Amino acid sequence: MGRSSKDKRDVYYRLAKEGGWRARSAFKLLQINEEFDLFTNVNRVVDLCAAPGSWSQVLSRKLIEERDQKNAVKIVAVDLQAMAPLPGVIQIQGDITKVSTANEIISHFEGEPADLVVCDGAPDVTGLHDIDEYIQGQLLLAAFNITSHVLKKGGNFVAKIFRGKDVNLLYSQMKLFFTDVTVCKPRSSRNSSIEAFIVCLNYFPPEGYIPTMANPLLNQDLDYSSLEGINCMLTPFLACGDLNSYDSDMTYPLELEDGNDYIQLPPTQAPIKPPYETACELKKKNKIQEEGLSVNILT
Ligand code: SAM
Repeated sequence: MGRSSKDKRDVYYRLAKEGGWRARSAFKLLQINEEFDLFTNVNRVVDLCAAPGSWSQVLSRKLIEERDQKNAVKIVAVDLQAMAPLPGVIQIQGDITKVSTANEIISHFEGEPADLVVCDGAPDVTGLHDIDEYIQGQLLLAAFNITSHVLKKGGNFVAKIFRGKDVNLLYSQMKLFFTDVTVCKPRSSRNSSIEAFIVCLNYFPPEGYIPTMANPLLNQDLDYSSLEGINCMLTPFLACGDLNSYDSDMTYPLELEDGNDYIQLPPTQAPIKPPYETACELKKKNKIQEEGLSVNILT
């Protein structure tokens, strides 16, 4: 009953079953490809966060089944979850935030860089938007770090993003590494979802950039002093002022150095129209406690 009503409601869910795709997400990659022609002259691809495997299916069908020259093609798929086998797809069951996973991917390419990296990674959604966006951001950072190890100069990167309030910062950061960055919302991605895909074309890292798997927020073992130039992504923190001066977190006794009592001074410049003015007026007239008024003031 539940299944048939979902079948009726969601055309992509139905079409995925009819087309033999493992998930309706296949249409997202197909539609992104219609716009950006991602697969021409592409032989080595990494599919990050690949399970259950519909994006790997798209890659396998487009690069292997529909091509004459299939021997040169190498598709590596990574996910925390195990995935049923697919023709021509090498699988790694691993965590994309781990250096060991990056190394394992690299080992499969035998020294050759990838032409394309795709990532449809999503955390288990908590429903708390800020946390979900944060975790999605961390996954994207991990995906980008792996990408910076394996992608050839001029290669392309496609990743799922959540269009949260800080997404513009993400676009600017990607623009540092790719000459062409577009945010794309395929028709098959529900309008009600903040999901979108960042399509980054022509990998072009800044001169001197050394790929890293380090997440500066999480990696306590990072030797910050060794980072130089473009790799030094941390803003230095400097405590300033005389260390003998007052500590703003301390409370000091209200007596002056010469032994005189402290006299409370009025503000140098009182606010012209403070938001609490009405409350002060009412308090003076002893009206603030009256029923109804207190509610109006506080809400
Ligand atoms: N693209 C897939 C497809 O077409 O079938 C669907 C991907 S699904 C939306 C998101 C996947 O991200 C899940 O399978 C999940 O296990 C994976 N994932 C989340 N965090 C991960 C991590 N740290 N490392 C590897 N995979 C991860």
